[in-house]
Amino acid sequence: MCVFCKIVKGEIPSYKIYENKNVLAFLDISQVTPGHTLVIPKKHYENIFELDEKISGELFKATNEIAKKLQKKLQINALNIINNNGPLAGQEVFHYHIHLLPRYENDNVKFNYPKHEFDKQKLEEIHKKILGN
Ligand code: 5GP
Ligand code: ZN
Repeated sequence: MCVFCKIVKGEIPSYKIYENKNVLAFLDISQVTPGHTLVIPKKHYENIFELDEKISGELFKATNEIAKKLQKKLQINALNIINNNGPLAGQEVFHYHIHLLPRYENDNVKFNYPKHEFDKQKLEEIHKKILGN
């Protein structure tokens, strides 16, 4: 059984901050910033590609609610939502989860994305690939 399934079952302790029938949220064990929270479906889905669409609706609704709770209780006005799917994307726990990362002045968190300027032809090619059969 995976580590988050164990948290759902109560076999591993966690600092829960939200719970309903299908969704659980708890503090990440390694806090990138204070209040760093994980929102998960109680049922095991490995990643976004497996996730049930009804559950994804419930998850985002809960995520929205929790974000507002963190905003109010931690007095923050900036927050990143991160979700890693697959090892190439940095996923380490293979039970779907959404990170909520409250942001603070001078918190020293930096996202280092490369930014590529694609020309029209390249963008059209990608667009066609996604929309085509
Ligand atoms: P990922 O890299 O898969 O998106 O993130 C997995 C996250 O799960 C990491 O931030 C890690 O700190 C967190 N995590 C791993 N094991 C546990 C645990 O036993 N309890 C809690 N609360 N968080 C965990
Ligand atoms: Zn699991």
